[in-house]
Amino acid sequence: VGIDVGLGKEWLVTSDGRRFNVPDTFELEKEMIRRQSHCDRNRTAIEKRVARFNHEHETKIDKYDYSNWQKLRKTKSKYQLKIRNIRYDYLQKVTTELVKSYDVIAIEDLKVKNLMGNHKLAHNIANASWAMFRRLLAYKCKWYGKKLIVVAPQYTSRICSACGRKNPQFAHMKTRDWLAVRNWTCPYCQTDHDRDENAAKNILARAIN
Ligand SMILES: [Zn+2]
Repeated sequence: VGIDVGLGKEWLVTSDGRRFNVPDTFELEKEMIRRQSHCDRNRTAIEKRVARFNHEHETKIDKYDYSNWQKLRKTKSKYQLKIRNIRYDYLQKVTTELVKSYDVIAIEDLKVKNLMGNHKLAHNIANASWAMFRRLLAYKCKWYGKKLIVVAPQYTSRICSACGRKNPQFAHMKTRDWLAVRNWTCPYCQTDHDRDENAAKNILARAIN
């Protein structure tokens, strides 16, 4: 099977049309960002207070001995950990499911999914997930004796999987507009494509040839 991993809500699409959605961590992420900025805002004030304490007392303390700072850091990392655990469980489930269902799995050789313009957090999480997904998939394929094929990522979502020609309509599109394209029709053979499923089919085709 060919697998296309994206950045959207439909995170993973296989060449035979199965879709896996990302678990919803949006609320947790919001909470985490709130704590993070809280932490950043208070850092200078706390550093000042610690400096004053050290100036006035014989015993010196460090920022990390200061209980308020500890508390701030703890609540922040609590949310980070929660998000990470949800993601990790989810990736474990998905990779096991994939490895059990298919004998040959093809993925793109992407080190970083460098597609999203300004949404930094989503970007980072997507990248982290992708790296972990690949790692988990690789070792599970070994365990279960399945074959993992990594193919070149160029133009997998722009080539028509039916006739093999590149769609010229997308050549000069801005990244943001191009990402918004969910469905398209091949100008040569008139096949209707779902963007991600088509990409997954191309990845599979590349792995076989
Ligand atoms: Zn076509």
